[in-house]
Amino acid sequence: MEIVTTIKEVRDRVKQWKLEGLTVGFVPTMGYLHKGHGSLIERAALENDKVVISIFVNPIQFGPKEDLSSYPRDIKRDSEISKLAGGNLIFYPENEEMYFKDFSTYVDVDGITEGLCGSKRPGHFRGVATVVIKLFNIVNAHRAYFGEKDAQQLAVINRMVRDLNIDIEIVPCPIIREKDNLAMSSRNIYLSIEEREAALVLSKALEKCRKAIENGEKSTHKLVQLMKDEIHKTTLSKVDYIEIVDSGSLGKVQEIKSSVLVALAVFIGKTRLIDNFTYNI
Ligand code: AMP
Repeated sequence: MEIVTTIKEVRDRVKQWKLEGLTVGFVPTMGYLHKGHGSLIERAALENDKVVISIFVNPIQFGPKEDLSSYPRDIKRDSEISKLAGGNLIFYPENEEMYFKDFSTYVDVDGITEGLCGSKRPGHFRGVATVVIKLFNIVNAHRAYFGEKDAQQLAVINRMVRDLNIDIEIVPCPIIREKDNLAMSSRNIYLSIEEREAALVLSKALEKCRKAIENGEKSTHKLVQLMKDEIHKTTLSKVDYIEIVDSGSLGKVQEIKSSVLVALAVFIGKTRLIDNFTYNI
């Protein structure tokens, strides 16, 4: 697996591929890859001739009290996983390659960033949208692959691509879970054995909510309470948010009348985990 660290190297490689008439898929990540990332790379390899993976822990999307410095890294393992999944090139830049000292241009996506993670992580989506548009401009791929695990992020990227007329196809990919239904995440490595067990309350809460909706429950207030009760079955959890929003606008809804995104963020010990599902009507 070829690993390059400069913008020029990626651009040259992709330019050459395009001259040869090849299509290019792109999978942006923060590294410490797992099967969730692997599924994105595999899908990209199925749909494109070449696949570029970026591995960059983007400092501007982390808040001052978040886990930027402790975020897990293992480029050797990432390289092996990328290769096995069908990747061709890893872009692995240093911060200095991505951000000039006097960097001062940002992308703000309004509205859909107000609730969910947006309200709990101020500036997060500004950092995400900014680095993603930079990566799109650097890699210049035909398609980019994003996980539904980060549902609000996917909505932000779709909105940005639409609003700014970016010439790329965004491909959403389903959430990949462990056998016991915990959504795969690089952050799961932070969990102790006890916390790993406790973390199952996230998917259990979502499953209860889904069943209740299927059984006719329409009140989002009641559904959120149902999920809270499940989350609080362990003393190791602390709810950051539980929200049911319109799946298009991401605005809060009182009643289930159209398709909704049910999303939650929960601290298990010090580790903040997210999970969600979309209920289509
Ligand atoms: P990250 O490295 O956490 O920034 O994630 C990079 C990409 O992988 C994002 O598009 C995520 O939504 C996606 N991703 C992370 N975890 C999963 C998962 N369990 N299933 C599917 N996609 C995922």
